[in-house]
This record gives sequence, structure tokens and C-alpha cells, in this order.
Amino acid sequence: MMEFKVSVIDRNVFLFSFNHEADVRRAWDRRPWSIKGEHLILKKFRAYLSLNEVDFSTIVFWVQDHGLPLNKQSKENIFKIGGFLGRTLDVDLVGSRGGVWKIFFRARVEVDVSCPLYAGFPLDRDDQGLPMLWVPFKFEKLGNFCYGCGRLGHDLRSCLEEESQRIVKGNVFQGNYGNWLCVENNDFQPGFSPKVLGKLVPTEGDREVGRSVQKSNIVEASLRN
Ligand SMILES: [Zn+2]
Repeated sequence: MMEFKVSVIDRNVFLFSFNHEADVRRAWDRRPWSIKGEHLILKKFRAYLSLNEVDFSTIVFWVQDHGLPLNKQSKENIFKIGGFLGRTLDVDLVGSRGGVWKIFFRARVEVDVSCPLYAGFPLDRDDQGLPMLWVPFKFEKLGNFCYGCGRLGHDLRSCLEEESQRIVKGNVFQGNYGNWLCVENNDFQPGFSPKVLGKLVPTEGDREVGRSVQKSNIVEASLRN
């Protein structure tokens, strides 16, 4: 049981004070935290700092990569894949229990809270003469987020993006996001399955997928071998 005191500093800003250093470490290591599904951006604070100096623009998640081919399964690659989402802090071959084949890997990534979450990335397999493989991500401890624009901090109904409003009004069956991004949900993004190799050519004009393709292309070359 962790012992701490909470004080309200500002609107939506709280100060958690701990009596024991071990509790601070425990709280820090178990990031991210959420309150009733809303993300709590946890930052370390020292009394000599001004509140303005605390950077609340990033949040840390463990992100799982599912269905990565055997020849891409290395610590180095997981580190690079984490880089698609933000800054990789750590990698973990958690899926490696027993046997060579890993069900999933995970990277601890510092993500910019103002950017949409990434749902996965396309792995180029041109050198094998195979179509691109979509490698879906799943986020651990992912709380509420917008199923329209993929950003944290608001829900679909209060989203200002035009496309989100189209989803709300029912003109669009499904957005690019859903709770399949959470590890608690065993499903994957509809249309993309890590079990179906090759079924992953991104839809033309699909903004989200298009953006992922662009971003990963930069790093793809170094993922080839
Ligand atoms: Zn939104």
C-alpha cells in the first residue's frame, strides 16, 4: 500500500507527496496512471521548480507490437519501432516466455499527448517479394481517448474534427480508432489482422494509415535485415 498526500495545485493539476522514496519509485514505475479512465500525466516535481517549468506535454506508455516476423524480432528493432510513436525509453521481450516465437514485444515510449496515437505500422517486405505487413500496436493502461482523431484528453462527441463529427452523426461506420488499441481487448483493428499475412495494403485516402506509412518509411530501411 502506497502512502501519499494529494493537494490540488491548479485546475487539473495535483501534487502527490510521498513519505517514502520506495513509494515514489513504485508510482513512477507503474506509469501511466488514470483517474476514472482519464489519463494522469505524472511528472517528477522538486520544490525548487516553478510549476511553469513542469512539462506536461508527454505521457509514457508500454506499447505492444503484435505479429512481428521472426527475422525482425530483435531488441534493436523494437527500439526503432517505439521510435515511430515517440521516444523509446525501454524495451521488453515480454512475449518471449518459452520458445523462440514471440507473441508480442513491447517498448516503453514517451508519447506527445497532443499527437494522435499510432495504431500500428506497415512493415516493408519488398526484399522477400511479399506485400507489406501491418504490425498492429496495443497500448497498456490506455484510458479514455477520442475514437475519431485518436488523441487523448477528449472523447469522440466533443471532438472538433470534421471526420469525428461525421462518425458521431452516423455517416461513417467506423473511425480509425477503437478500443482494440487497448491490451484488454483481444481484437485488432478491423480489416487488419496480424494472423493474416499480406492482408494489409493500406486503404487509399485513409488518412491515419497514410500517415503511418509515411512515418515508418523513414525508418523502414533499417528494419529490413
Ligand atoms: Zn478527437
